[in-house]
Amino acid sequence: MTSGPDLSRRRWLKGGLTPARPENPLPWSRDWLNFTDGCSRCGDCLRACPERIIIAGDGGFPVVDFSRGECTFCGRCAEVCQEDIFAPRSASPWRQQARFGAACLAIQGVHCRSCEDSCEPQAIRFRPQLGAVARPELDAERCTGCGACVAGCPAAAIKILSQEQA
Ligand code: SF4
Ligand code: SF4
Ligand code: SF4
Repeated sequence: MTSGPDLSRRRWLKGGLTPARPENPLPWSRDWLNFTDGCSRCGDCLRACPERIIIAGDGGFPVVDFSRGECTFCGRCAEVCQEDIFAPRSASPWRQQARFGAACLAIQGVHCRSCEDSCEPQAIRFRPQLGAVARPELDAERCTGCGACVAGCPAAAIKILSQEQA
């Protein structure tokens, strides 16, 4: 782990500008300040991801774009990285989960269950409601934050958010 003075000096040498924490940082990435301090923006993780869901975000720092697909937790991004900015694979990859927004067709009264079909861990349930369209409900215990439901939603109504952002 980087020490305080070294970290401050390196940030100063880079211009001191750290982009705001993105909605979806990489799995196993440590806290955002530490990550941006150590990441050289080499792009190795972008090329290594078999799902092609890693893109260059603000400042060129890698972020996950779930509109491109899901994270399979293969760990290739963390493996290829030469910097000490990822937690061990034995740790939880992240603390984030699916959130259904107001654009959800079912919430608007239109029958739709696309997200349920794309969720392999079966974390999305539709509880029947008397005289109303069933709405999606998340089983927080099962949701891994993989993001497979994002691209599977025809209304782009699902976001993957950390518990802090929710
Ligand atoms: S491989 Fe590591 S140093 Fe290179 S862009 Fe990805 S996270 Fe940053
Ligand atoms: S763990 Fe694998 S699928 Fe997920 S972002 Fe990293 S390389 Fe891509
Ligand atoms: S993020 Fe993954 S596990 Fe969670 S609801 Fe979506 S598809 Fe299911």
